[in-house]
Amino acid sequence: MRLIFVGPPGAGKGTQATRLVEKLEIPHFSTGDMLRDEIRKRTRIGRIADPLISKGKFVSDELVLAMLESQLKQLECEAGFLLDGVPRTLNQAKVIDSMLARLNRPVDACLYLSVPDDVLHHRLQNRTSTTSQPRADDQKQWIPRRLEIYRTRTAPVVEHYQLQGRLVEVDGTGSPDEVFSRIQEALAHIHDARPCEEE
Ligand code: AMP
Repeated sequence: MRLIFVGPPGAGKGTQATRLVEKLEIPHFSTGDMLRDEIRKRTRIGRIADPLISKGKFVSDELVLAMLESQLKQLECEAGFLLDGVPRTLNQAKVIDSMLARLNRPVDACLYLSVPDDVLHHRLQNRTSTTSQPRADDQKQWIPRRLEIYRTRTAPVVEHYQLQGRLVEVDGTGSPDEVFSRIQEALAHIHDARPCEEE
């Protein structure tokens, strides 16, 4: 199955994505993980991304898309995939749609984890105070900005896939087990990836 996974910060995407790729046995492409890896390795991309990420800002579309494309090109033909944290802007969504069309691997569905704002605030505040190694962008001061950036820049991605008739909305409130059951139930109605044609 070829999936895009979208949701606001604090929706529980990371937890659910890990479970989902294990269950579906598909590769997991998380641009957040890729960028954190670049930062750890102190690469050129890492040095550009570090000050942006630590302030809750987005990395440029060009940089994220170039990084993702080189990874997607290595995909096995029969494999599905989960794109996690990308696309995060409408422009990224459009470029990724054409990239995947060129690779003969259009997405089957965009899974959208929806969680009300008050629950997101509560979860993000909690994540800051209970994690032993908090992420730089999880600092309390950046929470309102991250939620605002999500609303202005990522919410249009949800609308984009809704207009394509490929949006699958799942209620992200409740325990991780409850949310995972809802995701599995929702995906049971999606047709599996059509095998791509070899070039
Ligand atoms: P995540 O782990 O998905 O929450 O991503 C952590 C941070 O990496 C985000 O807050 C952004 O600063 C940056 N980032 C990850 N993916 C993208 C993307 N697709 N476009 C722009 N910035 C991104």
